[in-house]
Amino acid sequence: MKIGIPRALLYYKNEKLWTKFFDELGIDYIISPETNKEIIDNGSKYAIDETCLPIKIFLGHIDYLKDKCDYIFIPRIEYALNSETCLNFRAQYDLVKNTFRNYNLKILFYNDYGHKKPREFRAFYKLCKYLKIKKSLGKYAYRIAKQTQFYYEMFRSETQENVIKNSKKIKVLVLAHAYNVGDKYVGEPILNMLKKLDVEPIIAEYLDAKKCIKTSFKVTKTLPWAYNRHLVGALELYKDLVDGVILVTTYPCGPDSMCNEMIIRQYRDVPILSLTIDAQDATAGIETRLESFVDILNFKRNGRNE
Ligand code: SF4
Repeated sequence: MKIGIPRALLYYKNEKLWTKFFDELGIDYIISPETNKEIIDNGSKYAIDETCLPIKIFLGHIDYLKDKCDYIFIPRIEYALNSETCLNFRAQYDLVKNTFRNYNLKILFYNDYGHKKPREFRAFYKLCKYLKIKKSLGKYAYRIAKQTQFYYEMFRSETQENVIKNSKKIKVLVLAHAYNVGDKYVGEPILNMLKKLDVEPIIAEYLDAKKCIKTSFKVTKTLPWAYNRHLVGALELYKDLVDGVILVTTYPCGPDSMCNEMIIRQYRDVPILSLTIDAQDATAGIETRLESFVDILNFKRNGRNE
């Protein structure tokens, strides 16, 4: 049996958890490749125009996997860190089931939903039941996988904290969802451009999620989405330790459009650049905007005579 894991959306948040779980159970899997133009174009064919770019990318990865494995792993995650997720994460199963209805896809369904805890463990348990794997084996694999994900996140967060404390370069806090900042086509070109400009990008998504989400409540009590809370909390915590902030959003994102507007109004003293990436232009034209923004940050830090 081979399972296909789409390298899209929440894969970027749960990579170690999911892959280690299957590794421990000795289940063979294939991860779709890094996003490229072909994947985006194929995904766009399945989506209506109003669909956000990450969902188009997700559909492109499903298209890639559809005839390369026995099951495609599709999660449905309703809540994260005690807040809601964007509706798109709840709809993934139905979206794929209906969009690919002519392909006889077999879906391995991972359903992390409802208020009853422990949600995540129950999702894995049901998945094991479906695959006829003993509960004790599933529990063991889950524990190891959870630990691996935990240490991976801790390492990433500590690395970012070290850069914030020790780097003398211009530092920019990049506020972008995991599946945007980690994507080869969406986030990587922006990070590479910043490095080329000798700027240290600090990835908000890689900073301690619990700490950030807790802090986000100082900024807003009403923001419903966990992943946006993570970014807002990171901004509140680190705004005085960085030179500027870049908001990277993918078109058209409902949660980001509301949240980013709030950020821009609330943090008037922080230099903020807002970038929107869409399926057509991707990162075209962004280099010039980044250069101008970095010039401003240099000017602000070093003064007129530098
Ligand atoms: S948060 Fe925005 S970008 Fe992410 S899936 Fe939802 S609408 Fe799309």
